[in-house]
Amino acid sequence: MTLAQRTTEIAPSPTLAMAKKAKEMQAAGIDVINLGVGEPDFTTPNYIVDGAKSAMDAGQTSFYTPTAGLPALRQAIAADTFKRTGQEITAEQVVVTAGAKLALYALMQVLVDPNDIVVTPAPYWVSYSEQVKLAGGRLAAIVPAAPDLKITPAELSAFDGKIKVFILNSPNNPTGAVYSRAELSALLDWADANDVYVILDEIYGQLVYNDAEFTSGLALRQLSDSKLIIIDGVSKAYAMTGWRIGWALADATIINAMSNLLDHMTSNPSAVAQYAALTALTTDSDALGEMRVAFEERLNATFAGLQKVPHLTLTHKPQGAFYLFPKVDDAALAAHGVTSTDELALKILTEAHVALPAGEGFGMPGYLRLGYAKDQATLDEALRRLTVFFED
Ligand code: PMP
Ligand code: GLU
Repeated sequence: MTLAQRTTEIAPSPTLAMAKKAKEMQAAGIDVINLGVGEPDFTTPNYIVDGAKSAMDAGQTSFYTPTAGLPALRQAIAADTFKRTGQEITAEQVVVTAGAKLALYALMQVLVDPNDIVVTPAPYWVSYSEQVKLAGGRLAAIVPAAPDLKITPAELSAFDGKIKVFILNSPNNPTGAVYSRAELSALLDWADANDVYVILDEIYGQLVYNDAEFTSGLALRQLSDSKLIIIDGVSKAYAMTGWRIGWALADATIINAMSNLLDHMTSNPSAVAQYAALTALTTDSDALGEMRVAFEERLNATFAGLQKVPHLTLTHKPQGAFYLFPKVDDAALAAHGVTSTDELALKILTEAHVALPAGEGFGMPGYLRLGYAKDQATLDEALRRLTVFFED
């Protein structure tokens, strides 16, 4: 078979691959703890599901919607954005997609020409690299010098004049780092001075913990005539990963280009999922706050527990998202007869029955990612198994 070259250049998503392996082992009757994929363990709150059911019963979900999304949903996203950031945006500055992942994919197709350079700090979310490649661009990942792995404008200056797009994900998957207002402001100033498109992936923006504060790019800049694009969605904060609703916020020129492209890809995202998202954004509920508090408690307990697992080091406490990204020491690799954390993660899965993606897929070998969106008993048992594995 001669498939297109791009199929051989693209790696499958390592987070989804690890979760798939874990599910296969579970189906074979093995008691695997799946910390592989980053998604809330909560089911979608009932009021959101009821909103979807009512829309179906009323016959509202039978037909195509506009590709960029239901006008009411685009309006609700604009209103919710204003509530959260204080920035007035219009429905024309919103495109709704089948998950935030598709918003990012369409955006790369719209912004990146062959050989354009896209820069992001490492570690980065696994799909950025492959999406940039699919657009023909080149991802330059910079490992920040600071121990919290946050990038500074000085570290970007080596690329001055060469960068087309800068991607920043705060709160970060996989480190959990949250950029302060001052840090974000300095990066946006650098981008303005260098005329660079900035994609701010704010999908975890409502999931910050303890004394951390989230600053959206929209608290600092407006969208009209700007090169700033915000990515967000309902997947994480509303426990709606399966519904596949995300969005991009940008100047209407960028939004129209994305919508033209999506006309030939998905058309609209599923209508019933859009009605669910509309209910999510237009109903006041305690559910979001309760889930956030649960994640905060799990972070605090699991971060403390992780300090006692031999051979894993995590000095900076994450402030957002739901991941811990500890470093593995070389002695642990040697003791288990492996040379990479990719191989180690497979051993952990088969021997300790805990599924954790390795740092390689995030552009940062030598680390493991532990998703803590699970109940505390499960997390404690995962830590116990890891301790036994690393003590051996
Ligand atoms: N960005 C980041 C940083 C993520 O972790 C995810 C999780 N899949 C996404 C985007 C995509 O989210 P969605 O599930 O809405 O496609
Ligand atoms: N964003 C999640 C993760 O990092 C979901 C999996 C994926 O889409 O890659 O685990």
